[in-house]
Amino acid sequence: MKKLSIIIPCYNEQESLPLFYPAVKKIVKKIPVEPEYIFVNDGSSDDTLKELKKIQQEDKEHVHYISFSRNFGKEAALYAGLQAATGDLVVVMDADLQDPPELLIEMYYLIKTGEWDMVGCRRVDRNGESKLKSWLSNMFYKVANKISETKLVPGVRDYRMMTRQVVDAVLSMSEYSRFSKGIFSWVGFNTKYLSYSNVQRVAGKSDWTIWQLFKYAMDGISDFSQAPLNITLWLGFVSFIVSFFAIIFIVVRHWIFPQYAINGWSSLVCIILLIGGLQLLCIGLVGRYIGRIYLQVKRRPIYIIKEKK
Ligand code: UDP
Ligand code: MG
Repeated sequence: MKKLSIIIPCYNEQESLPLFYPAVKKIVKKIPVEPEYIFVNDGSSDDTLKELKKIQQEDKEHVHYISFSRNFGKEAALYAGLQAATGDLVVVMDADLQDPPELLIEMYYLIKTGEWDMVGCRRVDRNGESKLKSWLSNMFYKVANKISETKLVPGVRDYRMMTRQVVDAVLSMSEYSRFSKGIFSWVGFNTKYLSYSNVQRVAGKSDWTIWQLFKYAMDGISDFSQAPLNITLWLGFVSFIVSFFAIIFIVVRHWIFPQYAINGWSSLVCIILLIGGLQLLCIGLVGRYIGRIYLQVKRRPIYIIKEKK
């Protein structure tokens, strides 16, 4: 029988976990696999770890947990889970039941056909989420897909089932700043997407503020695209050409019509400010990439484990 590892990142999920585990267990029983649950406690400040220990006591053979020394973020938790997984098939899913467990059955049989290496899920709507958030996220997918060679399917979730081959490919990308949606797409393989309607969190609340989502989107773009750098190059080039011809024009005009004395300090100040602003913006952009190089070359661990079982 094949082994199925299920990786669940948990951050302050004390209320969701008692609902999550039985719901998933019920579905997994219907699939002919040997399950392995790997819960990753991402430095929760509530009783998540206590809940995990309780679940682990119930089924010591199939349930494992990893507990971080502090909050390292969902991406780090996913990486830790993937490293610990020993299954032939691996699933990553959220602890809040926003990833419908019923889909596991369909995912399994699709992978079993041998036609697909990875079966992912995408939300086709965002019922119950704020209009602003869904508009911003649509914009993100549009921009990211325009400028990056790594394509993202709109509404795609991290929720997916992968073969061992795909997991090993994902693990071979040991980069420090991890944007899983991009990584899953970058590794390639035959991927099928199942669509489903948005489901609300069963309990607890999501801590994502609009600002955090914005940062996440920016990180996603700079991790998988160099387009911002190319844009700054072109901006610099165009303004150089324009000013080059403007200088020639002004000097020639001065020779031919000396009566046109140079006046208008206000336009001059505006131009200086514009160019100065553009320069700062471009330096800032370059700085973002340098910052990411800096973090990468330090080779800090992506997560630190405090205890596991
Ligand atoms: N999560 C995590 N570390 C964090 C934030 C979230 O491990 O720092 C987990 C969380 O417990 C959940 C999943 O990542 O299982 C998705 O989080 P959330 O529901 O807050 O995000 P959303 O569904 O709104 O994208
Ligand atoms: Mg959620």
